[in-house]
Amino acid sequence: MFETLSDRLDKVFTGLRGKGRLTDADIDATAREIRIALLEADVALPVVRAFIDAVKQRARGADVSQALNPAQQVIKIVNEELIGILGGETRRIRLAKQSPTVIMLAGLQGAGKTTLAGKLGRWLKEQGHTPLLVACDLQRPNAVNQLSIVAGQAGVDVYAPEPGNGVGDPIRVAADSIEHARRTMHDVVVVDTAGRLGIDAELMAQAAGIRDVVQPDETLFVVDAMIGQDAVTTATAFQEGVGFSGVVLTKLDGDARGGAALSVRHVTGQPIMFASTGEKLTDFDVFHPERMASRILG
Ligand code: GDP
Repeated sequence: MFETLSDRLDKVFTGLRGKGRLTDADIDATAREIRIALLEADVALPVVRAFIDAVKQRARGADVSQALNPAQQVIKIVNEELIGILGGETRRIRLAKQSPTVIMLAGLQGAGKTTLAGKLGRWLKEQGHTPLLVACDLQRPNAVNQLSIVAGQAGVDVYAPEPGNGVGDPIRVAADSIEHARRTMHDVVVVDTAGRLGIDAELMAQAAGIRDVVQPDETLFVVDAMIGQDAVTTATAFQEGVGFSGVVLTKLDGDARGGAALSVRHVTGQPIMFASTGEKLTDFDVFHPERMASRILG
């Protein structure tokens, strides 16, 4: 991901090398090229606009007496603005004062929620927690089984309706799981929920119902970074229908253009908290805006 964007930006910066000082016309031309690079990478238009305005303004006001040459100055500004649209600081999980901390996962089917539940379980265990993964995706026939498998791989416990009882009520399962976690001394509950292939009212109502009974400390919107501009539409729908406090980008190992990753923070105002980069449970990390910006700038 981001290869094309990285290449394009690199060309823009190369064009500036050797220039003694940037005129307003140079800055405008550079801004135009960066704009095209971002649009080609599928970054949402409002994000591109805000980004370009900030870069232009800062490049015009850049201190000419600085030790950096114009190309370096522009790279520095673009880097800082990229970090800014990616959220600036790394945002950590907020733990509840009273156990269990509840983390609810929401997103479309195929976004990577169940896989993420396993990844989070493994990661939380590594941090010294005793997580419980809860199967509230009772829509997809294999989802409960899949969650049990990833829980097994992660070495963490799972709470699921009894086999054969699979047509249960996910809201009831969610409510019961919190009681179960209290009794069994699990300090973090990760609630996997059902997704649909597209946004629909029933899905939103179910997720909102689960949210109301479990009162999550964090609701993570899980989004496939490969879906491009659709990520923004989906994020907005989930924000209205369920609400969320953080974003998880999945499939960052894919070869899509990466615009979703660069847009979702700005558009939703919520931080990107984790990044998923493959199918294995270890292909996962806390999201660091500055590392992602460096990766884009090569
Ligand atoms: P859910 O429907 O949201 O629960 O999605 P799943 O967790 O079942 O994931 C859907 C598919 O995407 C599965 O085949 C996963 O192995 C795969 N997947 C999940 N996360 C990633 C990722 O970060 N990278 C890649 N390449 N595949 C992923």
